[in-house]
Amino acid sequence: MSENYDIVIIGGAIMGAFTAYFLREEGFGGSIAIVERDRSYKHAATALSAAGIRQQFSTAENIRLSRASLAFYRDFESRFGVSAGFVEQGYLLLASEAGLATLKANHVVQTAEGADIVVEEPTALAARHPWLDVEGIAAGATGLSGEGWFDPWSVLGAVNKSNREHGTTFIDGEVRSLDAKAGRIGHVMVGDGKRIACGAVVNTAGPNVGRVAKLAGVNLPVEPRKRTVFRFTCPEPPNNIPLTVDPSGVWVRPEGDGFIAGAPPAGEDGPANVDDFDPDYALFEEVVWPALARRVPAFEAIRMAGAWAGHYDFNTFDQNALIGAIAGCVNLFIIGGFSGHGVQQAPAAGRALAELIVHGGYKNIDCSAFSPSRIETGRRLTERNVI
Ligand SMILES: Cc1cc2nc3c(=O)[nH]c(=O)nc-3n(C[C@H](O)[C@H](O)[C@H](O)COP(=O)(O)OP(=O)(O)OC[C@H]3O[C@@H](n4cnc5c(N)ncnc54)[C@H](O)[C@@H]3O)c2cc1C
Repeated sequence: MSENYDIVIIGGAIMGAFTAYFLREEGFGGSIAIVERDRSYKHAATALSAAGIRQQFSTAENIRLSRASLAFYRDFESRFGVSAGFVEQGYLLLASEAGLATLKANHVVQTAEGADIVVEEPTALAARHPWLDVEGIAAGATGLSGEGWFDPWSVLGAVNKSNREHGTTFIDGEVRSLDAKAGRIGHVMVGDGKRIACGAVVNTAGPNVGRVAKLAGVNLPVEPRKRTVFRFTCPEPPNNIPLTVDPSGVWVRPEGDGFIAGAPPAGEDGPANVDDFDPDYALFEEVVWPALARRVPAFEAIRMAGAWAGHYDFNTFDQNALIGAIAGCVNLFIIGGFSGHGVQQAPAAGRALAELIVHGGYKNIDCSAFSPSRIETGRRLTERNVI
């Protein structure tokens, strides 16, 4: 006899967790199951994330999603009894002469959305951030509030604890096929043949959303792309540094008693092997460290303390989230394709999808711009600030 759930969520990390949570918040009384292939989450992007939250995007839609999530993370402890570990220490995006016009244009969009960001030229920038070498910098945008980083592990644990308490069933196993007939998924097949009947399916498989969609015959432009995060310590560390992004794309932020840093891939960026989680150590030596030492003189003397690699859920179409229903499959929904800015937007995205499923439309935050239908119509929502 097969099990039966009104909603089956594929992937129990941050997007799946918040979707289940907000389905209940929005009054959904039916049965919910989360199918997760590895509840250690050791390869989930959520666990491997740098977990930055910012408002320094180029598109208003992304700023709104992050601002809605920011309010939620700030208030996290009063809902869940544990802190989200939010460190509100800002972002600092640096631009060379070549990037100046874009930085200023983005700032106009950000300010119109209520973001608290100041753009400064080198003298003022050096006064605000005495640890910074401003050579080659035309301007920098500092987030004065509402930006920083948090602890996605604590968030995930607390939200899934609440999900269990509110009747969500967790099923361990990998979804290997979807039984889709006439544009509707009737069953989800887990592991070696467990059949789960479903009313609707939500695909929150992170870097694997494309693979899971394919099981229902749907093509999505989302692929895993490997990114390495390096940990290091510094004998004389600069104080109060925000998450700083150099014009080269190299970023750094404090973490515990040291720092973490990363960079876009040095060579051609392309789909990752789904099993490849080996850090790219050459990137540290050849790209990350030289850029750090040039930008922050104290980082000339640092000691690498380790590294890890994770996969972005990279949307090759326009580097932005896909949130909503999938055309051609009436009971399939997705949240994915965030291309490096997903953990910060997860509460707002999960809430929006829950509203769509329960009420048939958005109530709090309009996510229609993120609809996957934009792929068929060729209407790109391109995000220029992909970090
Ligand atoms: C190195 C790195 C740095 C990042 N930095 C930031 C940042 O600073 N700020 C930010 O906002 N975002 C950042 N991100 C992006 C962010 O982490 C992701 O967008 C977000 O975590 C995606 O969450 P998810 O739940 O969709 O995916 P995941 O966390 O990957 O979870 C997907 C889950 O689905 C499960 N699954 C997959 N396939 C199946 C299947 N067939 N059957 C059952 N289960 C399945 C997996 O086991 C996994 O647990 C970063 C990502 C990486 C890799």
